[in-house]
Amino acid sequence: MATTLNSFKDLFIHELKDLYSAETQLMEAIPMMAEAATTKKLQEAFRAHLEETKRQRQRLEKIGEILGEDLKGETCEGMKGLIKEGEGIIKANAQGEIKDAALISAAQRVEHYEIAGYGTAVHFADILKENEISELLAETLDEEKSSDSKLNRIAKQFVNVKAESIH
Ligand code: FE
Ligand code: FE
Repeated sequence: MATTLNSFKDLFIHELKDLYSAETQLMEAIPMMAEAATTKKLQEAFRAHLEETKRQRQRLEKIGEILGEDLKGETCEGMKGLIKEGEGIIKANAQGEIKDAALISAAQRVEHYEIAGYGTAVHFADILKENEISELLAETLDEEKSSDSKLNRIAKQFVNVKAESIH
């Protein structure tokens, strides 16, 4: 069934439902990524982001309450696809550092997807003059950006260097 979007607010709620679904899917996917990681630093990064992800979903629930809207019931197909790609990497036969480099690559795709979604949502909240909601979304946006930078640092510091020496 096609989605009906009669107003900017409808579009905003549609975006929020998409994000809610994305975070919900990630709550199940991140522990599998952590399990598959071979370096402690990467495992810890995934586990820390899992805790953040739980809080991010709670933030969306709070936003739903503010708007008087139930954000459940949608499926974010984009995140579903990214997680499917991540599962392919989890199952792949690969040596430690190669596997970690691949996991980081998949995880950064997820973060960039979230950054795009939350960036748009913050912008929409500002247009709709929903200041409290805008602040809540901006907090999550910052967390997604730091998570991406953290993964970048791990990749650059040792994973890619070690992976290069294996081939
Ligand atoms: Fe998130
Ligand atoms: Fe994230």
